[in-house]
Amino acid sequence: MKQSTPILSVVLPAFNEAENIVPVTERLCATLESLNRPFEILWIDDGSTDNTTEVLDKLCSADQRVRALHFSRNFGHMAALCAGLEAARATGAVITMDADGQHPPELIPEMIALWDEGADIVQTLRDPATQEGMLKQQTSKGFYRVLSLLADIDLPAGAADFRLMDRQAVDALNALPERVRFVRGLVQWVGFDCEYIHFASEPRLNGETKYSYTKMISFALSGLSSFSVRPLRLSFLMALIVIGIAGCYSVFVLWAKYAGLALTPGWASILLVVMLLGGAQLFAIGIASEYLARTYMEQKQRPVYILKKPRKREKNVP
Ligand code: UDP
Ligand code: MG
Repeated sequence: MKQSTPILSVVLPAFNEAENIVPVTERLCATLESLNRPFEILWIDDGSTDNTTEVLDKLCSADQRVRALHFSRNFGHMAALCAGLEAARATGAVITMDADGQHPPELIPEMIALWDEGADIVQTLRDPATQEGMLKQQTSKGFYRVLSLLADIDLPAGAADFRLMDRQAVDALNALPERVRFVRGLVQWVGFDCEYIHFASEPRLNGETKYSYTKMISFALSGLSSFSVRPLRLSFLMALIVIGIAGCYSVFVLWAKYAGLALTPGWASILLVVMLLGGAQLFAIGIASEYLARTYMEQKQRPVYILKKPRKREKNVP
């Protein structure tokens, strides 16, 4: 039987999730069938080394609505999400979610309802208390705080990679040429009308988290560096501080001389020369960093603007 063009695609990146694939697909199918719109479930096997590949291939041959792409090695969660967004055939909307059962598919009807009402993106926010592990809770909180302080995007705390995106938002995201893809940030960056819904993260069905601490650090760094050049501007700030201190010190030296205070001869001049030279060097590094920051942002080749077509409500109904 030929599968009709889907209106909805659900993209699930999976890295060694063999035991979770069947239960997650079954639960997902039950919810999607109740929506009465053609759908596809697209699994991205991110170079799994367990039998995820075999389980997926069996599932795909048993159900035409399920598709799978296999990476040649582990390229990471963000790469898998991007592959899914590019390969999704849905004409209406694409939903991304985790493969481990932590994102409840029962939330999808609410997401679809918001989409029908005109939202282009429906972003879920994980209730922080429902995140597993104290350390993960705290590091995630800290990360969002640093990101909101340094980065030029407004990413709400707990933003999960469980979201719905209208086709035009997916196309805009796919068209961004940059290689380092911090999807959460890019979704905010492309704009469009976004609605938020809160959810309680469920416990992982089987297996352990696939985000090792090394992967988490590299994820956090890619988020920060993709959306902020502020750290590059730090040397300007340091130059100002050093030059400021040198200025205050020279005022003090003049005052001391006037007041007849005994200062060690030569001390003040050496200190001032060292501080002024240090300040000048930091300033020069600041100028070079400013050009580096601009070159860095330019090479991302993000578009100058993104246009949006007004959507009609009826469009979402088959
Ligand atoms: N994942 C992936 N590639 C990786 C790491 C993770 O595709 O290199 C997938 C993983 O299978 C899951 C999702 O990304 O579907 C989120 O990972 P995980 O549940 O381990 O992260 P956590 O929920 O612990 O933050
Ligand atoms: Mg998980």
